[in-house]
Amino acid sequence: MTKRPEEIALLAESGKLLAQVFRHLDRLDLIGMSTMQVNDLVDDLIVTELDARPASKGQYGYAYALNSSRNNVVCHGVPSPTELLQSGDIVNFDITLEKNGYIADSSKTYLVGEVSAPAKKLVQVTYEAMWKGINAVRPGARLGDVGHAIERHARRNGYSVVREYCGHGIGREMHEDPQVLHWGKPRTGLMLREGMVFTIEPMINQGRHTVHTEEDGWTVVTTDGQLSAQFEHTVAVTRNGVRVLTLRSDEKTVN
Ligand code: MN
Repeated sequence: MTKRPEEIALLAESGKLLAQVFRHLDRLDLIGMSTMQVNDLVDDLIVTELDARPASKGQYGYAYALNSSRNNVVCHGVPSPTELLQSGDIVNFDITLEKNGYIADSSKTYLVGEVSAPAKKLVQVTYEAMWKGINAVRPGARLGDVGHAIERHARRNGYSVVREYCGHGIGREMHEDPQVLHWGKPRTGLMLREGMVFTIEPMINQGRHTVHTEEDGWTVVTTDGQLSAQFEHTVAVTRNGVRVLTLRSDEKTVN
């Protein structure tokens, strides 16, 4: 479960490339683009420009370089040529990138055009909640501290935390131990040690926490039809804190 420094260096290299993919998406005007166009662009960027591999392709029989989860879609949305992004949408792009055998995993929820104040607030609070979790990571802290920090921030703002999906260890495999729940009790759960690498990826719902998987077997939606947002970073436990391996050039640590 813990990685050697050489392995963390390789994971950081994958993370840096993945951060560049998001910087590329940041510059797009998403209005009118289909989620499949975004997928194709990301696939091409990863393979052609970054000489890497979209790790989700072929994993669990999945065919695409990203998951696109729009509005009431919680996670695992499948890109489609007929799903056109419109002003007012919020859409999460979740991307995994493998380079030299090591995988980084990150996601970001984008605001498309003019987004309503409540939707904007949900996205902002979800981003902050991810950082509350990241900032709880240090050697000697426990996974319950991470989950608790996330859940407390979501609940204080009147939101709920999705319970069916969680963060995960990551390395040569996309999903390794441990499972990283986005809720929990302080001072419970696995104790963190230097060298552990895992994702923190809270899905925060505007309404109830319950979700439902659609008939395609992939798309997970809120049962009440309200909005859901998500952000994700891959992090490593360092000697005295945390290093965000997928940090983008525009990001600073959020307290
Ligand atoms: Mn993940």
